[in-house]
Amino acid sequence: MIATFPHLGTMAIFCKGIAVACGFEYLVPPESTRRTLELGCRNSGDGLCLPYRMILGNFIEALERGADTIVMLGSGPPCRLGLYDLVMKTTLADLGYRYRWLTIPGGWRFEDLRRLEREGRRLRHEVRFRQLARLPYALKVGWQKMVACENIERAAQRIRPRELTRGATEDAFRRALALVDAAEDLPDIAKAAEAALALMERVPVDTELRPLRVAIVGELYTVMDHRINCGVERILGELGVEVSRGNWFSVHISRNTGLNRALRERREEILQASYQYLGYNVGAECNVSVGETILAAREGLDGVVHILPFSCMPESVASAILVRVSRDYDIPVLTLHLDENTSPVRLTTQLEAFTDTLLWRRRK
Ligand code: SF4
Repeated sequence: MIATFPHLGTMAIFCKGIAVACGFEYLVPPESTRRTLELGCRNSGDGLCLPYRMILGNFIEALERGADTIVMLGSGPPCRLGLYDLVMKTTLADLGYRYRWLTIPGGWRFEDLRRLEREGRRLRHEVRFRQLARLPYALKVGWQKMVACENIERAAQRIRPRELTRGATEDAFRRALALVDAAEDLPDIAKAAEAALALMERVPVDTELRPLRVAIVGELYTVMDHRINCGVERILGELGVEVSRGNWFSVHISRNTGLNRALRERREEILQASYQYLGYNVGAECNVSVGETILAAREGLDGVVHILPFSCMPESVASAILVRVSRDYDIPVLTLHLDENTSPVRLTTQLEAFTDTLLWRRRK
């Protein structure tokens, strides 16, 4: 069995960590490039969302290199993520690939757990008892790596707008992630996480600067994956903006498993705020995008960047409502629709113009 998984932010680092700790063979898909997206677009229908296309491209490239088991995240309606497996399986079979599919449920729904059991049964002859017994430890390794990566990302969000040399944070950020990636067991990860944060803190900064503060809200995949959003966080940071976002793996996992009380309460606060405009929970991140924008205005942030893939139903609803939220709460909202033709130059120009507007408002 050679397992593969899609790229999403720093996911490859902790998925690899889990596979290594369990002793499973794995194959990280090549970095998402123009070719990845072209493969995804060529083999999918017109109405399918950008994350679908990129993920399909990741899988095709991984299967081309010898992977034979696809591990994918699941979700519920109305987001199409929960239906990706049905369509992708048919497409990949039509393209002549032979593989197994394993969906990790996005929650505790009975039918999702049944599906996991059914799909897992097909792999039972290839998984040794020793590997299964190591799974709890491996999950802990994956969790610690994920938290370490997120702490590095948060540090980068804070340091980037204050850096004295353009690009110094990005350089430290890459090296910090590599340290966590290379760590193998729990004590090693703890040391690597500490060294990585120390590396970030060594970036020379202007301690007096009071940067603009902007929240990034929107569809999970496009907010969290720098490959698909052309590095929105980095561009904003290098324009002197401190960004924050609520989309983190640890937040979604803790929220879906109901394990973290503070996160449950914060989500409730976000949803309550959104109910002024939406009578019910529309699904995916729709209400969260609306609620987080309202809270950003209440908490005194300078603006909000809303990112969504073209044809995403939940976020299209949010984007229509955010026009009213922006007016009612007097907070500038920049909406970025992403598709396969999005140009990094166009995106940078939009972000520069937005930042200029925010600076002008602050001076006023
Ligand atoms: S939230 Fe939208 S873009 Fe994301 S997977 Fe669901 S439908 Fe596609």
